[in-house]
Amino acid sequence: MSIVLKNVSKQFGAVTAVKRVSFEVAEGELVALLGPSGGGKTTVLRMIAGLELPTEGDIVIRGQRMNEIPVQQRNIGFVFQNYALFKNMTVFRNIAFGLKVKKWKRRDIEARVSELLKLFGLEGLDHRYPHQLSGGQRQRVAIARALAPKPSVLLLDEPFGAVDAKIRQELREWLVRLHEDLNMTTLFVTHDQEEAMEVSNRIVIFSGGRLEQMGSPREVYENPANEFVARFVGVLNVLELEVWGETATVGEITLPAPGLPDGARVRIGFRPYAVSISTDLERHPYLATLRRTYFLGVMLRVELETDTGLVIRARMTKEDYAQQGLADGRRVSFQIRQYRVLATEGGPLAPEESATFTPPPTLGENI
Ligand code: ATP
Repeated sequence: MSIVLKNVSKQFGAVTAVKRVSFEVAEGELVALLGPSGGGKTTVLRMIAGLELPTEGDIVIRGQRMNEIPVQQRNIGFVFQNYALFKNMTVFRNIAFGLKVKKWKRRDIEARVSELLKLFGLEGLDHRYPHQLSGGQRQRVAIARALAPKPSVLLLDEPFGAVDAKIRQELREWLVRLHEDLNMTTLFVTHDQEEAMEVSNRIVIFSGGRLEQMGSPREVYENPANEFVARFVGVLNVLELEVWGETATVGEITLPAPGLPDGARVRIGFRPYAVSISTDLERHPYLATLRRTYFLGVMLRVELETDTGLVIRARMTKEDYAQQGLADGRRVSFQIRQYRVLATEGGPLAPEESATFTPPPTLGENI
């Protein structure tokens, strides 16, 4: 294992920033630490880097317990959002900085820097100063500087936070390619779920200092461990239904609820892609009006509103939308093909047993 955290906690006075977090990162993985602001991501990264000491628990890097090892001896490269380039140094000297500190020979420094300039597409910029670079180039120099001394692990805290959307996209793709080339264990912090899904092999999701789930982008999207993860990763429709006569109802939506007592409340979640829509009003069991269409590229997101005021978000391809002649204001019928029970109150059914609570027609259990 490249990095192992065992029951790591961090207390800042009265604030518990990180609560008994354990996870493992294999050699060569590209892992995103994802979560809302204040979730504890940066603190976890700083503890791995050696910039903060854990209050309890162990941090192990390549088999060695790191708790008391100072930052300079951890052989870690890091790029923090506020870890700006040295303004009065050229690109060359910025990248060479860590190598000089380590007393590399002049010739080795030159060879290493030119290797990195080439790898990072920064050739010819070695004499420029940071203010003569674009935002994207500056970020690449910062990462090249972190990688120069050949660290065993690369840590990035919101590496693309300060650049505009287009450059951000380019840097994401570039990071994926760089990781493919170098295969270095890399952890990066982001609060952007799309960025985490697109870039990483695995995602660790934090909230309130706790680890909510670790898994591949697909696992956390399709099989979220709990409602927080389900809501945080991707768009989720949530409906709260009430049970009467073994049927759970909210507005027009009714689902069979065998075994649940009258008065029990059930919260279900479903993804926009699990909603089927048709302009044929006989086709699906529920009726609604298409209120709003969001154009997202190849896919569209539409917002439906039922006559009782339920708002349902659905996703479809542009083609399907055009073929059906859909438009804002059209009446449609719809069906929820897949959903998951998020919670039940006042009934015996636990969320894990949601497979027994199936909509007509019976469908898969993934969100
Ligand atoms: P963000 O995305 O906003 O950076 P985060 O998930 O990285 O959030 P952390 O920066 O790790 O979260 O902070 C977790 C909690 O610890 C927050 O409540 C924060 O206020 C607190 N915290 C972090 N650093 C310190 C510190 N040096 N002293 C006191 N409290 C701190």
